[in-house]
Amino acid sequence: METTNIVDIFLKCNINLHPGTLSELSKLKDDEIERILKKAKDGPRVITPEYFKTLIDKEEEAEVLVRRPKKRVHAAEIDSEIKIKHERDVTNKSFSQGDIEGFIKYFNNKFERLAKILKERDILRDTTPIGRIKEGEVKIIGMVCEVRNSKKGHIILEVEDPTGAVPVLISNKSGELLELSRNIIRDEVLGIVGKTWKDMVIADEIHFPDLPVRRETKKSEVDIALALISDTHVGSTKFLENEFKKFIKWTRGEIGSVKQRILAEKIKYLIIGGDLVDGVGIYPGQENELEIKDLNMQYERIAKYLEGIPEHIEIIVISGNHDAVRQAEPQLAISEDFAPQLYTDPRIHMMGNPCHASLHGVDVISYHGRSLDDIISTLPNQSYSKPEKAMVELLRKRHLVPTYGGKVPLSPEAVDYMIIDEPPDILHSGHAHHIGVTNYRGVNVINSGTFQEQTSFQKKLNMMPTPARVPIVDLHEMTTTIMRFM
Ligand code: FE
Ligand code: ZN
Repeated sequence: METTNIVDIFLKCNINLHPGTLSELSKLKDDEIERILKKAKDGPRVITPEYFKTLIDKEEEAEVLVRRPKKRVHAAEIDSEIKIKHERDVTNKSFSQGDIEGFIKYFNNKFERLAKILKERDILRDTTPIGRIKEGEVKIIGMVCEVRNSKKGHIILEVEDPTGAVPVLISNKSGELLELSRNIIRDEVLGIVGKTWKDMVIADEIHFPDLPVRRETKKSEVDIALALISDTHVGSTKFLENEFKKFIKWTRGEIGSVKQRILAEKIKYLIIGGDLVDGVGIYPGQENELEIKDLNMQYERIAKYLEGIPEHIEIIVISGNHDAVRQAEPQLAISEDFAPQLYTDPRIHMMGNPCHASLHGVDVISYHGRSLDDIISTLPNQSYSKPEKAMVELLRKRHLVPTYGGKVPLSPEAVDYMIIDEPPDILHSGHAHHIGVTNYRGVNVINSGTFQEQTSFQKKLNMMPTPARVPIVDLHEMTTTIMRFM
């Protein structure tokens, strides 16, 4: 652009140019000059060479900021940032004796922590202990020890806290409240607003601990990804060996389209959400469906496969109900006695179930998912084909195993390991053998399916698994891609 033209366009915006600035501007391309003019509009009336420098510098900086995240990285060039919250893992610190005192401690801890979450709500700040309820309007927080449906279609809860117990009636005429209340399950902790009637409380409002409506999801600054798998069931005749090998080959960048290989390059973490092997003696007649009948050999086999995962990928392994460890939850890590090969590789982190971890600043809870059996069999509109919906209920209840003495054996630890005190950015489960992805109030809820074909047992129950699909979470964008390997 001619210098006179440059002077003109700046003058039109009431901006004067220092001669030094003018000579610098005349070296620039037209679109660059226009960009600077745009930026200078809100600045001083004269552009000195010093001020001009800041206009140019800022432009460069902004460019870098925009470009940096888009830069393609290979996860091998990135150092891992993995923090496993060992204080939330029961491995090596299960003190439960299973005695009555232990139970009381467990329930008190559960009640107090969930009540604390509920009390963060304005409406539940001034609740009354159940033992001190007076006639009239009441606000209480209590644990549900019984849920009944009356013949007339009311829902009747028996609710208690350390001071007393009271029946709560949800009227058959309460419409939305009644519908909401169908999601109440035994042993969960609720906030109840209502009024007394005879010796019971008629509910006007029911509050689940739930997640805050607005929450910012944390993301990784670098463009890396997390792969989630579970329920490989190695050792079973139904284990899909070829498909699993394909998955491993893909992580190595050996197969897939260009786009898929770029995605594979981003993987920095892999979480295996339990049921690594099919186990031995898990259900009657299992021996007929086992290709590998020895537990140690089942683990040896999966360790062999995992050797194929590229070196730079950190692997977190949690236990599931088919694994060689106690069934009661929280579960300890799979023991070294059964899986020595998994303990020799330093990038494999052998953890209990559930496991809390932070991966490049993103908080993940991985829980095998056995309590989904309770949710799916007890609550309305739930099914194994939508495990993510059942997982959302766990988030709303802020508890991974809401019911004690349901289908999940629980070990009454003095501290309840299953409470979701802090909402995670990702909640990962398996167990349902069905892939499912959703977002609930800023939490990425993901069920990672399986690598086992439909078993005869599942066929009888009409369960249709979705094997060989792997959700890959882009930790930078927080988007999920499902890769299919069959
Ligand atoms: Fe499983
Ligand atoms: Zn399972």
